Amino acid sequence: MSSFRTPHRRARLALAAAITVAAAFTGPVSQAASSSSAAPSPGAAGIGDPIFPLDGNGGYKVGRYTLDFDWQAPKTPFEASATIKATATQSLSRFNLDFAGNTLHTVTVNGAKATAERDGDELVVTPKAPLPNGTSFTVKVTYTADPTQIRHRDDAIEDYGWIPTPDGTVLYPQPNGAKMIFPSDDHPSLRAPITFHITTPAGLKAVANGKLTDRTEQADGRVKWTYDSEQPVAAQLAQLAIGKFTFVDSTGPHGLPIRDVVPDDLVAPTAQYRKLTSDHIAWLEARLGPYPFNRYGVLVGDTDLGVALETQTLSLVPKADLLGDQVSAERNLVHELTHQWLGDSVGVKTWSDLWLSEGHARFYERLYSEAHGGVNFEETMKTAYAAHDQWRHDYGAPAEPTEPNLFKRMRYDGSTLVLYALREKVGQETFGKIERAWFAKYHGKTAGTQDYIDLASKVSGEDLEDFLHPWLYGPKTPPMPNHPDWVVTPVQS
Ligand SMILES: [Zn+2]
Repeated sequence: MSSFRTPHRRARLALAAAITVAAAFTGPVSQAASSSSAAPSPGAAGIGDPIFPLDGNGGYKVGRYTLDFDWQAPKTPFEASATIKATATQSLSRFNLDFAGNTLHTVTVNGAKATAERDGDELVVTPKAPLPNGTSFTVKVTYTADPTQIRHRDDAIEDYGWIPTPDGTVLYPQPNGAKMIFPSDDHPSLRAPITFHITTPAGLKAVANGKLTDRTEQADGRVKWTYDSEQPVAAQLAQLAIGKFTFVDSTGPHGLPIRDVVPDDLVAPTAQYRKLTSDHIAWLEARLGPYPFNRYGVLVGDTDLGVALETQTLSLVPKADLLGDQVSAERNLVHELTHQWLGDSVGVKTWSDLWLSEGHARFYERLYSEAHGGVNFEETMKTAYAAHDQWRHDYGAPAEPTEPNLFKRMRYDGSTLVLYALREKVGQETFGKIERAWFAKYHGKTAGTQDYIDLASKVSGEDLEDFLHPWLYGPKTPPMPNHPDWVVTPVQS
């Protein structure tokens, strides 16, 4: 590899600064990083993400979340608990969970009451006795969940977390609103399976990531639904929804179970576009490899949310996206479906790697759309090229976002443009090989920007470091291969 690594040094410095911030926030977490197996020390308050340094937690690994929600009505607080099985990865005197809003009741560790303090979005848990490195332990947090709490995201979506609907709820946890739903490791690189127990009033249905494993009617008429995510899921990709739903079952390529979850009165009006999912899966499998999960479905959101979300195995698609023209509907459906491969199965290591998730989802969305009545892909890339320096200035380079409002145009067409430039550079056939190799190598794992550069170089047989680095980190947009006539509009500050 080339020695042109300046941006990485910058990223490391930012990471070091972020960890210092984390240390300053809750006390002597710096001990944790340097401690051996000797004296118990606090787990780190965050994993030092460049954008959200306190998200995720250090000192342990979560093995499974078991979540209980005694749901009542769209905007009514209700009793909830989270039982977290974890393994200490250092000798722990205390540890943190990411948890925001809600009313905390009790925290136990291995059944014994623990000391719990809230500090911003951190829940600091001190067990009765230290937890030796390598031991398994169980944390249980009980709380009253508040589905009316609000987090703001400054883009097409305004509030995230619980999204109340007329008769139920859906979740929009991205980027870091899962901590308002349940205490967690709220970072995309930290994933664990989830068991959901959701109790609903009679007449409503509940759904969540993965497979329905049990449905029990209780003596009082309420119904307890149990779902198993089957595969590990990042907190930001958790979904649970309640409403007057119809489950619409069908079968995708090679027998893949498809279950759409649709508000009763929207089943017929959304059927035409939902029925295309099987074709979309086949189209993506031809480009990326086998669909990575055991099942899929579209959750039609009875909400006026401005954006859809790739919640794992069950994408949330607001109803308006399925009630308009076919080209727009398919763009949304293919975008969220692409994320099941890239973003969900291949997770990002840090939020700065988001371009790998959104850039890819937009790439295949545009590629599909061009062949199915949508706009010309090359024209959209030429337009993105013209705006690219301005986006670098406003939002940071594709792999180096400069502000917590991540979901700006640079992460979509601006990042797709990097993949387009790579395809122009190496040719369509080699680019296809890179993409299939990327998914084949990293499905079920997390991967970052350098991993992509390294793999693209290996598959293409040429060192792409010097080509991709300026595209991903530089202050100026490089020339577009094969398009010397494309021009960048000067930056207006
Ligand atoms: Zn997306």
